[in-house]
Amino acid sequence: MNAQSAIQKELQDLKNSSLYRTLKSVAGEQGPVLIIDGREVLNFSSNNYLGIANHPALAQAAKQAIDHYGCGSGASRLISGNMTLHEELETRIAGFKGTEAALVFNSGFQANTGILSTLAGEGDAILSDALNHASIIDGCRLSRAEAVVYAHCDLEQLEAALKRVARCRRKLIVTESIFSMDGDEAPLAGIVELAERHGAMVMVDEAHATGLYGASGAGVVAKLGLGDRVLVQMGTLGKALGGFGAYVAGSRALRELLINRCRSFIFTTSLPPAVMAMAIAAIDLVKDEPQRRDALWQNCRHLTEGLRPLGFRLEASSSPILPLIIGDAAKCMKFSEQLLEQGVFAQGIRPPTVPPGTSRLRITLMATHTRDHIERALKVFEEVRAAV
Ligand code: PMP
Repeated sequence: MNAQSAIQKELQDLKNSSLYRTLKSVAGEQGPVLIIDGREVLNFSSNNYLGIANHPALAQAAKQAIDHYGCGSGASRLISGNMTLHEELETRIAGFKGTEAALVFNSGFQANTGILSTLAGEGDAILSDALNHASIIDGCRLSRAEAVVYAHCDLEQLEAALKRVARCRRKLIVTESIFSMDGDEAPLAGIVELAERHGAMVMVDEAHATGLYGASGAGVVAKLGLGDRVLVQMGTLGKALGGFGAYVAGSRALRELLINRCRSFIFTTSLPPAVMAMAIAAIDLVKDEPQRRDALWQNCRHLTEGLRPLGFRLEASSSPILPLIIGDAAKCMKFSEQLLEQGVFAQGIRPPTVPPGTSRLRITLMATHTRDHIERALKVFEEVRAAV
């Protein structure tokens, strides 16, 4: 078989098992309404939770940064690409998160693979929640540490695993705070306690929590007052913060170690000025405008209360991510396609993103959805459910 036909065969296999993926083209801005294939659809598939991806304050900050600093950063951070804006953003993030220091990464994916492979290596153990993101899974693999996967949010299994790896040199527990596909919250207080009892480090991925939890939106770690007991807090700048990139917040020593050792930080061109200026503007919005969070939670309540009486199986969620479990991958994708035809974009999520048999519509809310958007979506959910 030549290379092209091997590729074709792999694609056909994906199609046969309802796992084939295609891209949708979005024209225009990212908001609660998107233009897809020339048609307006209600957007229930975005991580732009606070609706600030198209906020004028971010756009203005980006334009000013381009005028002042130009477009590209020119090099990696350790060569000539460490601009004053990178450091300003890091100081702002550390202040926002209440940590000694912070370090910016080009993406959350790069942050996770890089941090895990810096903090753990051969002879170490990483204890990872079964539903952690692909970038965490890949970070575990890259580290060459022994990866021990514990059942989702299961503290008993985590403790048993900690006992099993007691003789490893370093032990690192890694979990998301808000899980990306389920929207539920990790038992962070229990995890931190176990870590202290068993001499393990803790790393928390706040990708879906940054901007949303705690008095000033710093995340779940801040909400629970666990900042001093979590070694690594990572999060993204491309979800609720509306821009792009990622951060790690923690001690000065952690920052220094990553600068010296972390390959996905060292060997890549640094973020361009416009992206950093957007992040600084976004942090200001998040801190100064808690009403955005209030609007988001109100929208979550409104949609949940509307979906439940329609008989949908809606998993418990403490976030703007509402997983509506369908089960079968083909049925889930058909549901999602029909919703889109009726003007509602709610992405179907299948394996390998989620475990087999748990395919779901991942419905996400934004602060900028109106009551009318939600009422219209509820009507379409009801109609499509009757038809699928
Ligand atoms: N961690 C989690 C939990 C995520 O959901 C994502 C993005 N889907 C990432 C990390 C990666 O972040 P980024 O999009 O910035 O690469």
